[in-house]
Amino acid sequence: MGSIPSPGTRIFYEVVLLNFCSNCGSPVETKIPPGDHLPRFVCNSCNTVHYKNPLLVLGCVPEWQDKILLCRRAIEPRLGFWTVPAGFMENGETMQQAAARECQEEALATVEVTSLLAVVNVTRANQVHVMFRAKLLEPKFAPGIESLEVRLYTEAEIPWSELAFPSGEYTLRQFFADRAAGRDDHHFTELKSRGFAAVAE
Ligand SMILES: [Zn+2]
Repeated sequence: MGSIPSPGTRIFYEVVLLNFCSNCGSPVETKIPPGDHLPRFVCNSCNTVHYKNPLLVLGCVPEWQDKILLCRRAIEPRLGFWTVPAGFMENGETMQQAAARECQEEALATVEVTSLLAVVNVTRANQVHVMFRAKLLEPKFAPGIESLEVRLYTEAEIPWSELAFPSGEYTLRQFFADRAAGRDDHHFTELKSRGFAAVAE
């Protein structure tokens, strides 16, 4: 196992430490490779450098008439709290496909993903959350395996104090402000608060 990196080294602070090389199975060491400027997990047997870079979380605000669809989480973190459908992007898909897939998985709902709504840099958790607007193609939905409950909310009904993640709250506030103004803008922000470290939708 590699030596424990300094807690001041942010890239390692919130990520799972890597113990073994996924290429050859040997223990990895934490060191700065030649020509690099940050510590990486490096295999001393096969010299593979295992980079740990930010993860993309894709989500959408599914709209049906004047309502939007939210899911109540059946899993930790934030079990029992409400969220827009969102989750980690998979290899080989576009951001729009990822957003639509997450909605299908968490809300069993089919959407047409439309415009970019919000990009939230969650630097504390080494994640970037990208949120789109979306149209529900029909008012059919039900809890997927990661949801306890799925329902349509008017703006006045949104359970603001029971939202799972600040990135979701930011997204919804931008969505409703834009809708009231009759525009489809893109919004960018950085959220650093401690509460984001547990985000793993
Ligand atoms: Zn190796």
